Amino acid sequence: MPKSTIKVALIGNPNVGKTSVFNQLTGLNQQVGNYPGITVEKKQGISKLSDSIKAKIIDLPGTYSLNASSIDENVVIELLLNKNDEDFPDVAVVVTEVENIKRNLLLFTQIKDLEIPTILVINMADRMSLKGIEFDIPVLERELKTKIALVSSRKKTGINDLKSLILNYESLSTEPCLNASVIDPEYFNNLRRAFPNQLLYKLWLVITQDVNFLNLERNEIKSSFTKSHSDLKRLQQKETIKRYQFINDTLKIGQKIDITKASDLRAKLDRILTHKVFGYLIFFSILMVIFQSIFDWSKVPMDFIDETFTSLSTYTKNHLPEGEFTNLLSEGIIPGISGIVIFIPQIAFLFLFISILEESGYMSRVVFLMDKIMRRFGLSGKSIVPLISGTACAIPAIMGARNIENWKERLITILVTPFTTCSARLPVYAILISLIIPEERVFGFLSLQGLTLMLLYLIGFGMAVLSATILNYFLKLNCKSYFVIEMPSYKVPMFKNVALNVIEKTKAFVTGAGKIILALSIILWFLGSHGPSKKFDNAEAIVATELKQNNTSIDTEIFENKINSYKLEHSYIGILGKTIEPIIRPLGYDWKIGIAVVSSFAAREVFVGTLATIYNVGNHSEEEVTIKNRMAAEVHPETGKKVFNFASGISLLLFYAFAMQCMSTIAIVKKETNSWKWPLLQFIFMSGFAYVTALVAYQILK
Ligand code: GDP
Repeated sequence: MPKSTIKVALIGNPNVGKTSVFNQLTGLNQQVGNYPGITVEKKQGISKLSDSIKAKIIDLPGTYSLNASSIDENVVIELLLNKNDEDFPDVAVVVTEVENIKRNLLLFTQIKDLEIPTILVINMADRMSLKGIEFDIPVLERELKTKIALVSSRKKTGINDLKSLILNYESLSTEPCLNASVIDPEYFNNLRRAFPNQLLYKLWLVITQDVNFLNLERNEIKSSFTKSHSDLKRLQQKETIKRYQFINDTLKIGQKIDITKASDLRAKLDRILTHKVFGYLIFFSILMVIFQSIFDWSKVPMDFIDETFTSLSTYTKNHLPEGEFTNLLSEGIIPGISGIVIFIPQIAFLFLFISILEESGYMSRVVFLMDKIMRRFGLSGKSIVPLISGTACAIPAIMGARNIENWKERLITILVTPFTTCSARLPVYAILISLIIPEERVFGFLSLQGLTLMLLYLIGFGMAVLSATILNYFLKLNCKSYFVIEMPSYKVPMFKNVALNVIEKTKAFVTGAGKIILALSIILWFLGSHGPSKKFDNAEAIVATELKQNNTSIDTEIFENKINSYKLEHSYIGILGKTIEPIIRPLGYDWKIGIAVVSSFAAREVFVGTLATIYNVGNHSEEEVTIKNRMAAEVHPETGKKVFNFASGISLLLFYAFAMQCMSTIAIVKKETNSWKWPLLQFIFMSGFAYVTALVAYQILK
């Protein structure tokens, strides 16, 4: 015979409609007070279940999990751990809601593991058809070892089912969802041996939470089983991961989401944005607008920065006393800083767009849209985020791959991400494109240069996808795959979030890559303005003798140029460039480009800076002052052809698109894969491929 009053605890995440369910159950029979000693509101009420039996319902404060972080949450744990508490429930009713059930179930599985009879309420059932969500209740009941009431407290449906489940609470299973010892078998087995009569999960909560439970025992448990704070945190994280794995597996078979059936405004938007045809069209149009804007809008500030630094460099040279320090400043440091600052407009614009897409909720739709395609290449829909953020920098992108659960998909994502065009390639592309692609408009409004840039991004992306396919075929790793994505609602991006993101990313670039660029600029300046042999030191005399022998008379300016180019040739850097010239000549590069390519293996962004430093060493007339003009004017001494022509330009573009030229990326891949094998393979494959494509391109186009 059941008791005449059944004690019920109503538990749930905030905003699942728990209060509404409480109101439906109890009507006007409510009492509001305070928990003793604290200001947390205590709400309870009476619900009549049958003629002779009623339920005393305690509406507990909303909580996300049993890992308490506030007094409100403590109230819940203390009640559930203290069997002696007068309010200790006969049955726990965990309220969840249709749309966020995945997150809501975390708390449910924790309560289940306390082996209290538990009923699961799925509230807001009225929104199911609107959202295109269906549940297989018998399957969920079997997997979650519980009984489920599908309720709409708004439409007042399912409340009677819930009441009859409460009435029959004694038939509920008390089997836990997760065996606590999977978290750390050794630790938990010791715990079990020490306290054979206690529930394992309860002990675990006592160890990890500061709650008032069986005071005597608590101290005893804590003193012999406490791990370091970070170890406990790690185990708690492991617990959460295990729980979500269980929940994902359960929902995969017990829940069906078909957004094509959903019918509210958000769903309508979703349907268009994730549409088989329009979805992609919209996504690519957005990408196109972004790349056009990056090119068009950054032009003005970039030109300004370039000219300002050039004047500054000239000013320093003319106004400071002649000497090593002045040269270091005007030819090493100032051009070096200029080579960092000049990227800021482009990086800022790119991140402005990426954060707007993220903040508005659109990015999740892109992930959803892409999942179908990405799977074919051995990637996950979540790989799109590393691949897209790879457009800024491969380093945060590769770290971002951590949220891909499947190891094989994650490894492939890590290995192919450096193919996406990172911001360090952007200045290289920008300057080469402006040198070899005419400033024309297609259809009257699309800039040809902008289109070329977009094409390069697509090539990078295409190469990433192609290598993923190959890796997917050859990598033999067996991993389970999960894909559960929460679609946030659409919202107008918050200015503050967007601005902070842009600032943070730009700062990361300036302080991270910037340091390397500046250091290399200074080293390169040194290598370019000093040489090992007498030839370097006596350049002036040697050139003069040569001219005399040939009986040529020239004006002073050309004489100066000859000296400088002779010096450059015999400087440390010239010797290095010349050494590798035979290897790079078939790609269409001279030894000066060779120097830039070699120093780019430290970091690509030094390309422009290196060339600037190299050309700075020579003397130039007024109109050749900007880096671009200097590069455009550069002529091959033997052939008389422009050094940066269409063939060598395309060859360089392709080389930079594919080669693994970034020390920091290699370091991060080593860290994330925990082996040298992957970054080395990646380096050899990418750079080898870059060499071959650049070679083929130059040989065909020259
Ligand atoms: P609590 O924070 O869990 O106590 O949630 P509330 O009871 O305050 O409800 C949160 C929001 O969900 C309110 O705006 C309710 O109107 C809404 N809500 C509650 N139950 C339902 C339901 O069954 N259907 C719908 N559509 N909305 C509901």
